[in-house]
Amino acid sequence: MEKPVRVRFAPSPTGPLHIGGVRTALYNYLLAKKTGGVFILRIEDTDQNRFVPGAEKYIMESLKWCGISPDEGPEQGGPFQPYKQSERKSIYRDYAMQLIEKGHAYYAFDTPEELEAMRTRLEAAKVPSPQYNSISRMQMKNSLTLPEEEVKEKLKAGLPYVIRLKIPRKEEIRLKDNIRGWVMVNSSTLDDKVLMKSDGMPTYHLANVVDDHIMQISHVIRGEEWLPSAPHHVLMYTFFGWEDTMPSFAHLPLLLKPEGKGKLSKRDAEQHGFPLFPLEWKDPETGDVSKGFREEGYLPEALINFLALLGWNPGTPQELFTKEELIQSFSLERIGKSGAKFDIQKAKWYNQSYLKQKNNQELAAYLVEDLKKIGIVVSTDKAVKLCELVKDRVYFAKDLMAETLFFFQSPDSSDLKIVKDKWDNDLQLVVSEFKEEILKMGSFIAESIKKGLQAILDKKDIKIGKVLQPIRVILTGKTSGPDLMLVIQEIGREEVVLRLDRALKELV
Ligand code: GLU
Repeated sequence: MEKPVRVRFAPSPTGPLHIGGVRTALYNYLLAKKTGGVFILRIEDTDQNRFVPGAEKYIMESLKWCGISPDEGPEQGGPFQPYKQSERKSIYRDYAMQLIEKGHAYYAFDTPEELEAMRTRLEAAKVPSPQYNSISRMQMKNSLTLPEEEVKEKLKAGLPYVIRLKIPRKEEIRLKDNIRGWVMVNSSTLDDKVLMKSDGMPTYHLANVVDDHIMQISHVIRGEEWLPSAPHHVLMYTFFGWEDTMPSFAHLPLLLKPEGKGKLSKRDAEQHGFPLFPLEWKDPETGDVSKGFREEGYLPEALINFLALLGWNPGTPQELFTKEELIQSFSLERIGKSGAKFDIQKAKWYNQSYLKQKNNQELAAYLVEDLKKIGIVVSTDKAVKLCELVKDRVYFAKDLMAETLFFFQSPDSSDLKIVKDKWDNDLQLVVSEFKEEILKMGSFIAESIKKGLQAILDKKDIKIGKVLQPIRVILTGKTSGPDLMLVIQEIGREEVVLRLDRALKELV
């Protein structure tokens, strides 16, 4: 029988959650929801040196904002609580001791100086990657080389020590990755990872494997950067005797630079001016502020849809997926091996698509708020009409204001410069007659406005193409925008007349 799906997202609170981390969380979440399984959030905070205040809260808030809600976790609780490794500290030692008793781990008493000396020695001997391993350990101070009595004495005297994993000398380690297929590694290339540190805290490797086992994790889905650790983890499962319940692995491809080559970096984001974090983050030490997708105006549903297709593909041309559709379509088999280009234009496109789907009432609420901030009061009804007009033109709700400001503020004289070159007698006459027509026309609606303008043009045999743009610039200060007749209707008769009048005076 298939194991019930239990997956976990296991971030270390060492800073803000990277957007790649959000994708990892999302893929875990989608698999859990698709299979009726459980999605767990586990905070891996055993490395006290890398602890960053606020990071844990930030991670939880980010997941909340993205709608990736854990079924079990520090806030939700669950059958295997606590879900924060620092609160589970007491359980790990026993497991390290089990490995020592079975001969798969050992005490090491080397001082930092001795470790450094080993490194120098190996470098001098031109060893390609100097490490504490099945060969070098035999020259070091550990329970494999020291007499048993001496080990006991050192432990009794409370001398600092670490516990290391005893990697076999030459053994083929095989692991099946859901994305990469079989991965084969010879144990001679692996180092004897520290499992317990001298401060009594477990390292990532020990705590991660022990917790995955205890929490009955069925699939480990994580970033590609953890692939080199996987053989160590596979060995540990075997040493503990947990082969039968070992989770299956899926290492997700990297997120690549927008140009498609190399790993996406903070510098790329800064250079192109896009965020790399879901929410804005203020570094507690330097005070530096990093942009967040939320603050930039992205809708969480758009970000999720964008991230879902960054590495996974549905096998169809469909691009827009509701969360429910993502859940239904998701599978580990359709995650690609190669890195996924981080195309921010695509993210914007997603945001635009989701904005368009919002009803005008919702958009109007943003617009009313934003305008209020700059002292412009507008009724919801009016805002709804304006949103309908401009919604296809904006990527973000915050752009609604910039796109509609001309309804409330007449353009600057400097904007008229664009018309100046084209200004001639014909234009002057058309604009002036158009103004008169507007003053006397019955109902001031787009249809009558268009008819009125067309009648003037027909009389003079002038093509509409010649006048539309100049009139738009005169009224809005912009060279493009939504349907001009609707724009005129919404600016309102009185204001349109004022703006045309001003242009007639200024453009002589
Ligand atoms: N704590 C690790 C991290 O920060 C988790 C890696 C894993 O999922 O095993 O990403």
